[in-house]
Formats: sequence, C-alpha cells, structure tokens
Amino acid sequence: MYCRAKFTLTCFILIWVMGSAMAQHAGITTLESPFDQYQKQIGKTPQQVIDALEQHQSQSTVEQAQVHYILSEAYLGLTYPQKAKKHIDQGLSLIPEHKQPWLHHKFLLIQAAFLEFSGQPEDALPLVEKTLDWAMKQEDLWLTIEALAARGHIHNVMALSAKALEDFQAAYQMAPKSGGEINQAELAIDIALVYEYRKEDELAIPYFQESVDYHRAKNNLLDLSIALYGLGRAHLHSGQTELGKQQLQESKTLAAKVGDVQGEAYATKELAGLAIANEQYPYAIELLKEVQPVFELADNVFMKLDVAFSLTVAYMESGEYEQAQHHLNLTKSLAETQNTAHPKASISILESELLAAQGQFEQAFKMLQEGREQELDIIKQNNSEALNQLRVAFDLSQKEKENQALMQQNKLHLTEIKAQQERQKLLSLLVLFFILVMVLLFWSIYKNRKHRAKLQFLANHDGLTQLFNRMAGIQVIRNRRTEQPKLVLVMLDLDHFKQINDRYGHAVGDEVLVQFSQLCQQHLPEDAIVIRLGGEEFLLAFGHPQMAKVMQQMYQLKDLCKERIQVGQSNHQLTFSAGMTTTQENLPLETSIQQADMAMYRAKSQGRNRIIIYNES
Ligand code: GH3
Ligand code: MG
Ligand code: MG
Repeated sequence: MYCRAKFTLTCFILIWVMGSAMAQHAGITTLESPFDQYQKQIGKTPQQVIDALEQHQSQSTVEQAQVHYILSEAYLGLTYPQKAKKHIDQGLSLIPEHKQPWLHHKFLLIQAAFLEFSGQPEDALPLVEKTLDWAMKQEDLWLTIEALAARGHIHNVMALSAKALEDFQAAYQMAPKSGGEINQAELAIDIALVYEYRKEDELAIPYFQESVDYHRAKNNLLDLSIALYGLGRAHLHSGQTELGKQQLQESKTLAAKVGDVQGEAYATKELAGLAIANEQYPYAIELLKEVQPVFELADNVFMKLDVAFSLTVAYMESGEYEQAQHHLNLTKSLAETQNTAHPKASISILESELLAAQGQFEQAFKMLQEGREQELDIIKQNNSEALNQLRVAFDLSQKEKENQALMQQNKLHLTEIKAQQERQKLLSLLVLFFILVMVLLFWSIYKNRKHRAKLQFLANHDGLTQLFNRMAGIQVIRNRRTEQPKLVLVMLDLDHFKQINDRYGHAVGDEVLVQFSQLCQQHLPEDAIVIRLGGEEFLLAFGHPQMAKVMQQMYQLKDLCKERIQVGQSNHQLTFSAGMTTTQENLPLETSIQQADMAMYRAKSQGRNRIIIYNES
C-alpha cells in the first residue's frame, strides 16, 4: 500500500514538473489560421480586415489576443494610432508573457510602433530591444528581422540615421535566410526611407523601385501605394519631375482604392507642392483644400501645418492676400504647438514675403531679419549638435580602441597561459617518460644481474646436489688456504654405489646422492667446504684443523648415513670409505688431495666402511 502511494506521488510530482516546464515554453509561435490570412490581407485591403475582425466572435483568449493584434496592426497601417493602442492594451492584458511569450513580444513590437508614431521613440526602444533579445535567443529569425526593422524605424525617428541604416541593412541581409518567410523586398522600403531622410535620393530610388516591383507583383495595393509615394518623391527631388508626378498620381489612386484616406492625402499634398513649383496656384489650392479636412480629422499636426503653409504660399502667389494672411495666422498658431525652431524661421520669412507683396516693406524687412536670425540660430544649434555628435563619435571610437587594446591584451595573456600549460604538459610527459625509461633500465639491470648470478651458480655448482663442482670447489679451497694454509682434507667415496643403481634404479641412486649431500651440509660445520668431485666421490675441507675433531665429525656422519639415508623402499644401509690428510704450507694442494685419495683407496682395500688417515709409510 505504502509503495503504491509513493509511486503515485512520484508520478504526480513528475507530471507537475513536466507540466510547468512545458508551460514555460508553450504558446503559439506564429499566428494561427485564419488570423495569418487576415494579417496578409492588411497590406491589400486593411479596411475589410478591420470590418471582418471587429465582428469576430472569439472562442479563446489566445484567439481574442490574435484578433486584437491584427486590428492594432491594421489601424496603425491606416494611421489611426489611438484605435491601435486600444487593441494593443486589450491584447497585452489577455496574455501573460510566460504563457504566450511569442505573441507577447509581437505586441511589444506593435506597441513600440505606436510609441514611435506618438513621438516617444525613447520609450519604444527598450520594448524593441527586449523583443530582439528574446527572438535571437529563441533563434526566431522571422521575429529577429521584424525587431531589427522596428529598431531601425525608431533609430530613424531619433535622427540616428546611420544606426537605422545598419539595422535595416542587417534585416535586409538576413531575409533570404528566413526560408521565404520574409522577402527582402519587403524591407527595401525601410532602407529607401532612410536614404530619403538623408537626402540621398539617388541611393533611395533602387530600393523604392524594388519595393514597388515586389508589391505590384503581389498585388499588395496599400504597400504599393506607399512605395510609389516614396519613389515618386525621390524622383521629384532628383529632378525626374514627370516620372515622379506619374508615380505620385498612381499612389494617390491606389490609396483611394484601398480606403487609405491619409495615404491619398499625402500623395495629393506632394502633387500640390509640385503644382506650386510649377506656378499652377489655383490647382494647388484645389488639391490642398481637398486634403486639409483629412489631416484635420486625423489631427495630424505636422501635415496640418504643412498644408496651411503651402496654402499661404499659393494664395500669396495668386495675389489673394487676405486668404494668405488667414492661412499664415493658422500656420503660426499651429507652429506654436510644435516646439521646433525650424518652421518658425520659414514662417517668418514667408510672413516677410507676404508683407513685401502687400507693399509693407519696413515690416517685411524686420520680419526677414527675424527669420534670418532664427535661421542663424538653427545653423548654430545644428553646428553644436554636429559638434556634439562628433565628440560622442570620437569618445566612442576612443573607447572602442581601448576595448580592442584590452581584448588584444587578454588574447595575448590567454595565449601565454595556453603556451605555459602546453609546456607544463610536455614537461610532465617528459618526466613520466624519463621515469619509465629509468624503471625499465633498473629492471633490466636487476634481471641481468639475477641472470648472471644464476649462470654463475650453474657454472660453479653441481646440477644434482647443488654442491660445489670439482673446478669451483678446488678454487674455493685454494682461496681459503691463502688465509688458512692448514686444512684437513677428506676424500670420500660411497661404497658399492653401483649396486644401488643396479638394484633400485638410477633414480633411487640420484635420490641417495641428494640425501647424502644435504646430510653433509646440515651436519658438518658451516665453514666446511663440500665438493662433489664426480659420480659418488666427494672432497671435504675443514678449517681449524684438529684432526681428532674432524675424525669425530666424520664418524658421526657415518652413523647418520646409516640412520637417515633411505635407499628406495629398502633397508639398505649406506656406507662410505674416506681418506684424510692435513695440508701443509709448503705442499701443493694437488699433493694433499692425492694423499687423501690414497688413504681412501686404502680404506676401500681394507674392506670399505672406514676412515683412514694418510701416513707416509
Ligand atoms: P666401490 O665400493 O668400489 O666404490 O664400488 P662402486 O660400485 O661404488 O664403484 P664403481 O666405480 O664400480 O661404480 C660407481 C657407480 O656409480 C657407477 C656409476 O653408474 C654410478 N654413478 C656415477 N655417477 C652417478 C650418478 O650421477 N647417479 C647415479 N645414480 N649413479 C652414478
Ligand atoms: Mg668411485
Ligand atoms: Mg664407490
């Protein structure tokens, strides 16, 4: 019972852990059907998407959030920021970040777009950075590109055009790797707009053209109208007036077709500017009157100011000073709300022109002076801004250099450490190798010595009994005699040994020889030299030569032979015959050995089993 409960508990914990781990990564990573289709449709018929989705009945919160997301995108596309904001807030409140991280970050991007549009690019930037970070960590290429492009827009608005261009170019380069999810051409317009902002129209044109071609092929009417607007303006600015005019007119027609009222107004406003440049003032006024209510409705202050300014110029040039004055006043009051010196200088100059046109030269001169001063202020401000930018750029480059030096130093340090580690590794390997060689050397020396000692033993000893052999044994006696010239020598021969072999076999004979040798070594004094001369014949040499004592030891040996040596299974008693002599200082050893031999033969001839001392007679 206990085991079952424990198992169930373990399972429960496991499921809970897995569940919460999955919840961390769950959530959609792309818009679900049919919302993905609606999103694609925004570029073509944004109003239809809005109409369809405002009626949509959502089944789940994720579905609802996706509806809010697409509506916010569509409203921003049609330049209704407040409506977009409402849907962004509602969407974000529906989905917590940890449950729908992807959708959450998509909302952050659209929220950033809204903030940027509302003139708060500094607040938009962290949202985009956060999304970019997340997308790169997730290796979500699509979202990374979107975030890069979004950051480019913000940098652009913050007048950091170089940074903007960097972001857009990065996104543009990345697009082909997105596996067809994002077409490079979709990003071309962003690059074009930065170039246009930098007044580098020649560079902008190919990117606008790429965008136009792409959206024309895809039949994305809204995007096509926007791209045509950009291309038209770039052509106008670079002197290709007729081509520019055609493109702006097409842009206007398309915007009207997709219900992009403001887009239509923007294109019309450009055409009005062109009409003023061509001195077609009544036509310009007509166009400007057409767009004025649109910008009024959208409360687009910047464009309202632009239209009022243009109307002032057009009325002034057509000699309708009253109307011109009215629009100048409107321009001035709108400029008050705009906190930039730029339009104020142009307005002052325009006002002076209007005064001059009406013959009020003194006032006109004053106003012109004011305008010029304001212009000078702008130049000064721009210069100090430029200086500031240069200083920041210089500081940055200095810091970069310092960083590079530091990195170089670190790199060097690292390489040094690595080299040191390599050296240490090599050294320890060498030491190890040396130790190994030494061990092998000592081992071989030891083995060699052992081998040599073995060889030496084999050369000096008898293989069966391990006693000294004749040659080595006699040399040992000679060496002993250098210290002790007087030794007792005993020549010993086993009696009737042939019979043992004959009766009990050669192996028994061998065994008897071994037993006899061991008996000699055990019984005789330690310093006695025992030699097997050959066969069953032995030569013994004793120090401290007291003949009597040696004689006693020999008799004891004789008794022990009988008692202890076992001849096979028989009760055969082993005896020996021995001849004894004492070496003399002036007598050669060979002579003494002969004497002992002679005494031994005498013992044999006297009936064996006896010990005879050599004497001269
Ligand atoms: P004696 O009493 O006269 O010495 O008679 P003996 O039989 O001992 O002497 P003899 O010289 O006739 O025979 C010696 C024998 O010893 C002959 C030989 O076969 C034997 N012998 C010699 N060396 C060895 C050995 O290494 N092993 C064995 N088993 N027999 C040996
Ligand atoms: Mg013999
Ligand atoms: Mg013998």
